[in-house]
Amino acid sequence: MDKISRADALKGLIVLPVLAAAVAGTAGQADAGSKAQFKYQNKPKGSAKCSNCRFYRAPKSGKGNGACSLVSGSISPNGWCIAWAKK
Ligand code: SF4
Repeated sequence: MDKISRADALKGLIVLPVLAAAVAGTAGQADAGSKAQFKYQNKPKGSAKCSNCRFYRAPKSGKGNGACSLVSGSISPNGWCIAWAKK
């Protein structure tokens, strides 16, 4: 029983730093894909459009194009892509 506990503790000591490094290495570094990759278009698809997508980041001024967490470049609030997801 004591040997198992020690082995488990050692596994934890090895695994935790690896997980921490993996999380630190990827957090906030998601690379955005290209418009072509996501089949982005400058017009809505039905009622689905960037401005009502959870990934859309409106410009600070509130006017004009914004950005997207997934697709790189200038993103129209009236655009759409295959990754659209309801806000
Ligand atoms: S994921 Fe697609 S639909 Fe959503 S904001 Fe980005 S470009 Fe627009």
